Amino acid sequence: MRWENLTVESGGHGRTADPALFGADAVTTRTFDTPEFRGITFHEIRARSIINRVPGASRMPFEWTVNPYRGCTHACVYCFARKTHSYLDLDTGLGFDSQIVVKVNAPDLLRRQLASPRWQGEHIAMGTNVDCYQRAEGRYRLMPGILTALRDRANPFSILTKGTLILRDLDLLTQAAEVTDVGISVSVGFTDTELWRTVEPGTPAPERRLDVVRTLGEHGIGCGVLMAPVIPFLGDHPAQLRATVRAIARAGATSVTPLVLHLRPGAREWFMAWLGQHHPHLVRRYERLYAEGAYAPKWYQRRITRQVHELASEYGIGPARAGMARRIRPEETRPDAPSTPSMTEPVQLSLI
Ligand code: SF4
Repeated sequence: MRWENLTVESGGHGRTADPALFGADAVTTRTFDTPEFRGITFHEIRARSIINRVPGASRMPFEWTVNPYRGCTHACVYCFARKTHSYLDLDTGLGFDSQIVVKVNAPDLLRRQLASPRWQGEHIAMGTNVDCYQRAEGRYRLMPGILTALRDRANPFSILTKGTLILRDLDLLTQAAEVTDVGISVSVGFTDTELWRTVEPGTPAPERRLDVVRTLGEHGIGCGVLMAPVIPFLGDHPAQLRATVRAIARAGATSVTPLVLHLRPGAREWFMAWLGQHHPHLVRRYERLYAEGAYAPKWYQRRITRQVHELASEYGIGPARAGMARRIRPEETRPDAPSTPSMTEPVQLSLI
């Protein structure tokens, strides 16, 4: 791999190198002996830029992103970002789950770039490539500095996460929401415990994620749920959809946006191998459903979207501005508060 010129710097836990890799000045690789991080290698880098422009051809509904990490210990089998690890000549399977790149200078760099006269204060999306509140954040604590920089410049931003660690930064989120648009979305595609354990093995349980939605709402920060991915034949039974939407509603989500599993190269191979191991009888059905490419057929997507919208209407979820957060009034958080049965439109986000 392109990191092979790493040289030992200190002890058994730190090594440095000078790779010509995504603008990094140097790399230190590190491991920790705690059970939480056993088997995980962190590649600490000093990035040269932290605000990234989304390529024009992208279908993403935002233009600027900040991603302090690459790779994700949440280890979701279907994760679309696996492919991006191959750009570093890192393995897109277990390597994606266990070789984590950490941009340790992200907060300082962001503060500098936000202060540049060339920066126009546009919306910045986080959690769009990998989860910025994955377990590594508990040790590296990059997000408090990032949120502080955004708050101080009143720069609008949004976060998509599966990480309950976001609640650690509740005060900063609240402060930021006082001065700018702050959008928080939590990803919960299903509430089936067995499915969660096998397909999202490194993530907090769906119920804990919904606790995040609830807690944010109790603190006046509206939180939407990206119901993603809805996994064909494993998480799409009407009873499963109902249980999930009902739980999302009970958590007080301001919106629910369903998104059917997509399988791009990089994720597809890993997911299909997992499927063959855990649900071999479904392999042929998947090959047929995804015969045209990365996306399930439109009829299937429309069916799921309609079902979720009907359930959301039944359970009274919404309304919210798509992708953008806002402070909500306390009365809006009451489970019995009247609500309009409208939601964000179904989207073709490339994130989960
Ligand atoms: S889907 Fe999100 S949380 Fe799961 S591994 Fe990928 S980036 Fe991490």
